[in-house]
Amino acid sequence: TRLTRADLDSLPAYVPGRSLADLTRELGIAEAIKLASNEVPYGPLPGVPEAVAEAMRTAHRYPDMGVVALRDALAARYGVSADRVVTGCGSVALAEILVKATCLPGDEIVYSWRSFEAYPIISAGSGATSIKVPNTAGHGHDLPAMADAITDRTRLVIVCNPNNPTGTAVRRAELERFLAEVPSDVLVVIDEAYREMVTDPEVPDALATYADRPNVVVLRTMSKAWGLAGLRMGFLVAQPEVAATIRKVVTPFSTSLVAQAAALAALEQEAEVTRRCALVVAERERVTEALRKLHVAVPDSQANFVWLPLGDRSAPFGAVCEGRGVIVRPFQPEGVRVTIGTPEENDAFLAAAELALDQQ
Ligand code: PMP
Repeated sequence: TRLTRADLDSLPAYVPGRSLADLTRELGIAEAIKLASNEVPYGPLPGVPEAVAEAMRTAHRYPDMGVVALRDALAARYGVSADRVVTGCGSVALAEILVKATCLPGDEIVYSWRSFEAYPIISAGSGATSIKVPNTAGHGHDLPAMADAITDRTRLVIVCNPNNPTGTAVRRAELERFLAEVPSDVLVVIDEAYREMVTDPEVPDALATYADRPNVVVLRTMSKAWGLAGLRMGFLVAQPEVAATIRKVVTPFSTSLVAQAAALAALEQEAEVTRRCALVVAERERVTEALRKLHVAVPDSQANFVWLPLGDRSAPFGAVCEGRGVIVRPFQPEGVRVTIGTPEENDAFLAAAELALDQQ
């Protein structure tokens, strides 16, 4: 007898980056460097640990289920009404809830591929069918092909902008053309996990520009620029009716007491977030140039990571980096994604990369 769904057997599991402690122990070195999960390397923002400590005083109580204070703060910051904001246990949980709220088994979800590896997992969880539209030769979304892939069964389309793991971003004109083509009964999710790192003025801020459209939902996270990956806090902005439905199916109390307190404290530190993102962006440009000098065709990145399209050399490249104490994220046989760290961490990666490429 089987107790779980047979269709989940073939689902690939989410593979997180290797743990720092693990590799540090294996190599017997002072400390390995992790450039595998797109975190910003500068620690929690000032005031956040204190806010968490304060929140702990009432940790025996449930958090505010309505997340009122935090939703108000997010609404004020992003210029929307609070009834349009839903928070969750990371934006990945909200993406999953969006699938749940839109798709019945057999319904279709269209997204670019390769993109964020959680998309196939959350789609399959609802029994929805993933329609993966191959990236362009330049490693970006092929929006015309994505529009063509929409059928009567399509309930959801995901645009990951900038795209994880390739760092590429779609621009205003092509995104607007695409949005005009999507039928009004299909929900478009624009996942802007890396928005704070975007510097190309032609890449639109979807939260500021498109969130008022009836069938658009914008996903944001506080895991990256805002430094709260370990606390799990993401949010979405949707139309009030869509937001109300999503709130109904969201897991009760899934934005924890500490996540709410930390996010409120982090929002007070936007100047510091901007400063940190500028450091990351400067390093992104430096690392991109250095890799191109090593003859790696790195596409322009608008995020806090770069993509090395190394094909079937990806896994061996990752292994050499690990041997030098640098954890990167190979996606064999397509490429390797490397998160931008501190200048010293990036130097260690570039030295490992040079060695790895020499050996190939
Ligand atoms: N969307 C994209 C594109 C991502 O890369 C990630 C994190 N890797 C997420 C969403 C999820 O972020 P979180 O759940 O930490 O908010």
